[in-house]
Amino acid sequence: MPKTKPKDQEQAIQKAIEVLTSQGRDVTTSAILSTLYADGIRAKSSDIHASVAWKELLAKEKGTPAAPASETKDTRTTKEKAVAKNQKKPNFPSKTCPKCNKLIHARSHSHPECGWTMAANPAPAAVKASPAKKVGRPKSVTSAGGDITLDDIRAVKALADKIGAEKVKELAMVLAR
Ligand SMILES: [Zn+2]
Repeated sequence: MPKTKPKDQEQAIQKAIEVLTSQGRDVTTSAILSTLYADGIRAKSSDIHASVAWKELLAKEKGTPAAPASETKDTRTTKEKAVAKNQKKPNFPSKTCPKCNKLIHARSHSHPECGWTMAANPAPAAVKASPAKKVGRPKSVTSAGGDITLDDIRAVKALADKIGAEKVKELAMVLAR
């Protein structure tokens, strides 16, 4: 198959492909044609497809699968998502709000969002008040009514022996009215 194309056109096509590649542009037939046109070379699509440089380019593209690039992108996305999830978790010392169970700062004494405040807990005051009352309670009271003495029990026992426990009970119920 005799080559009718001039050698400088073949070189121009190769140069155009190199230029487009170095510029990071898509090396397409039309891109090469326009590059050649800018250099004053009138070429056809068939000229480019017949060139050695174009065939080498096609061989390179076939030998370089696009899969690794997309896999790399997917990995990055997964990592970014993981990082994003970690950032959503509290990046400060946190505790659970006793009122609304949301995470709040560990040292905060209040949560304006739900109105909880640490000062609202009345426990310390109550603890101080209750023992004082219990301690101050007297064991024996001699005023109004009074406690039953041993002599009183003996008297009731003597009465029970005399009239019977049931009668004493009835008498007590009558007296209670
Ligand atoms: Zn809260």
